[in-house]
Amino acid sequence: MSSLPTEQSEALYQRAKRVIPGGVSSPVRAFRAVGGTPRFIRSARGAYVTDVDGNEYVDLVGSWGPMLLGHAHPEVLDAVARAAQHGTSFGAPTEAEIDLAEMIIDRTPVEQVRLVNSGTEATMSALRLARGYTGRDKVIKFEGCYHGHVDSLLVAAGSGAATMGHPSSPGVTQATTADTIVCTYNDRESVRQAFRGHGNNIACIIAEAAAGNMGVVPPAEEDGENFTAFLSRIAHEHGALLITDEVMTGFRVSRSGQWGLDGQHGDLMTFGKVMGGGFPAAAFGGRSEIMQQLSPVGPVYQAGTLSGNPVATAAGSTTLRLATEEVYAQIDRSSELLRAEIGKALDAFQVPHVIQHTGNLFSGFFTPEGTTEVPDWKAAATQREDVFAAFFHGLLANGVYLGPSCYEAWFLSAAHDDAALDRIFDALPKAAAAARLA
Ligand code: PMP
Repeated sequence: MSSLPTEQSEALYQRAKRVIPGGVSSPVRAFRAVGGTPRFIRSARGAYVTDVDGNEYVDLVGSWGPMLLGHAHPEVLDAVARAAQHGTSFGAPTEAEIDLAEMIIDRTPVEQVRLVNSGTEATMSALRLARGYTGRDKVIKFEGCYHGHVDSLLVAAGSGAATMGHPSSPGVTQATTADTIVCTYNDRESVRQAFRGHGNNIACIIAEAAAGNMGVVPPAEEDGENFTAFLSRIAHEHGALLITDEVMTGFRVSRSGQWGLDGQHGDLMTFGKVMGGGFPAAAFGGRSEIMQQLSPVGPVYQAGTLSGNPVATAAGSTTLRLATEEVYAQIDRSSELLRAEIGKALDAFQVPHVIQHTGNLFSGFFTPEGTTEVPDWKAAATQREDVFAAFFHGLLANGVYLGPSCYEAWFLSAAHDDAALDRIFDALPKAAAAARLA
């Protein structure tokens, strides 16, 4: 499929598969949906990643979101080295945690945050807090939304779960999922029905602030009200909370995430990816009155050996400090140019598609002819996965590394300059031609 050498990646893949299930530490990396040899990465700098065979690619994965400034940004590396020299973990409070917490609070409507290690931990903890605060059990989530691999949220999930073809997982007990109600994203009636059925036992709704794990599906407007605003309203009418998951959109689609674009936010919010600057750091936050229910002040328990890790917080706060309005304006511009070029290339080869975005975060859907909009998972799942696979390999063979699944967002960075974009623009017609033949 690819004319680039892959012997070293292939050898490592075979070696990895003996000791790591599927050879990978996270499923989508295995190229299952697109076929071929997953590339083992040796190094990355700016907008580029280099694999162990020496192939260099323009990177559109960006570690699945964190690398807003590009790879190995010198100031982030300096901050990491400086922090590490003072010790890498103490299990005691540090000033660096306060700095990062203050930066998050400065950019979002939350009043307090707790730092954790991954987006999964953030949503799991926010969910527990919402249940503890309301004294209720049930949670509403949306088909195709992904909130990490939390048991009770691994129902009709997007991202890797969708790619692997089992959006719900064995090992998650029926008792756990009995309290999870699955609704349709952007479908208000499905949410009204859930409240009619379970009314006052619903603790919270959790929704991606804009869905990014079934491809990019922004909250739709209806009668002048945005879908997330509707969720907030209906939750509050029933004494429930709304959690907006900004793990992917936070500090990426604008300085203040999706909230910065549409002004909508949950009672609790979850963050990750960009705020860790490429290290394991994430957070959840909200109104003080709710956050004060957390241990040690309140009864809802939550903890972590490495939470607020000094190296991770140094990378995160340096990344946020460098992520100025100019950085976002530049990435927005690159995203707009790239979306236009993708559309042109696919149109030229008559490959049916839809491109959707929220701010600079976007994805292409290889939906059937005549589809003009993808509002939910059912529409996203009509995609021709074989067409995507051909497009993906067309890009890869021409030096562009895209996420190996049609349900993932495309991630740009401030390091994607004209030279990097031109490389993508050159590869696009070749990839579109390959997609045409699928
Ligand atoms: N929520 C959202 C919206 C995400 O996109 C992700 C990861 N893609 C998560 C939660 C889980 O984060 P992590 O992989 O860091 O556990």
